Amino acid sequence: GYMDDEVNILGFTEIEKISDSFNEMLGRMKTLEESRQEFVSNVSHELKTPITSIKVLAESLLTQPDAPVELYREFMTDINEEIERENNIITDLLSLVKLDKKTGEMHIATVSVNELLEIILKRLKPIAMKRNIELVYESFRNVLAEVDEVKLSLAISNLIENAIKYNVDDGWVRVSLNADHKYFYIKVADSGIGIPESAQGNIFDRFYRVDKARARQTGGTGLGLSITKNVVLMHNGAIKVYSQENEGSTFTLRIPLNYIP
Ligand code: ADP
Repeated sequence: GYMDDEVNILGFTEIEKISDSFNEMLGRMKTLEESRQEFVSNVSHELKTPITSIKVLAESLLTQPDAPVELYREFMTDINEEIERENNIITDLLSLVKLDKKTGEMHIATVSVNELLEIILKRLKPIAMKRNIELVYESFRNVLAEVDEVKLSLAISNLIENAIKYNVDDGWVRVSLNADHKYFYIKVADSGIGIPESAQGNIFDRFYRVDKARARQTGGTGLGLSITKNVVLMHNGAIKVYSQENEGSTFTLRIPLNYIP
């Protein structure tokens, strides 16, 4: 009969396999609501962590009124660091929220990408110098492109800041700019700690950090790369990463020269 024909064409095992992999796919797919809830719970957690530390530090000073001045100084330094951390999270979150309003908010103008890169590099040079990291800029083309300058600047700054942050002392960061008739390409390569292959698929997720403890020390929020990816997608561009642990990472942006809304 009819059913038998179907079974003959595919065979039972094939049908079972297809149905199994379909079910597995459904299981893996996060619903929009689940993603939203996960984001809100991540935000709450990230915002609460510094506040909890601040409260513990302040309370312990308040309960020992004749604590030595050295202890006050030590705890105040810690409190100050936690406030800075909270400030970083709020700044990054506000950037993300602004980006989430999507394409209506794009302020497109013709921008010299070379000049944009030079400005960013000049600003980040002192941070690199602190750890004797060489910051090299190579430009293969003069690029004029239709972009949102503020957003693109944020995206590129995040990549270069990471390349410095996750580097080794005396290392290097190379930023290069190239173009063809359709796209411009920005490459940020570093001699840093690299990203384990298993983590490379997650680094663009909000709040994802390979090493939480290390990210904490470096003031990381886990939002930088998700902001960068958002900006790149808003320009109809693409981002990819190549990385090897203990050798370094290379992030490449490909963005159309002409903006298509
Ligand atoms: P963070 O604020 O922690 O730097 P990001 O979203 O910018 O957050 O990056 C996510 C994680 O990806 C970082 O915590 C770090 O583990 C890893 N990462 C990003 N850029 C690099 C890089 N250039 N080299 C090594 N690891 C990196």
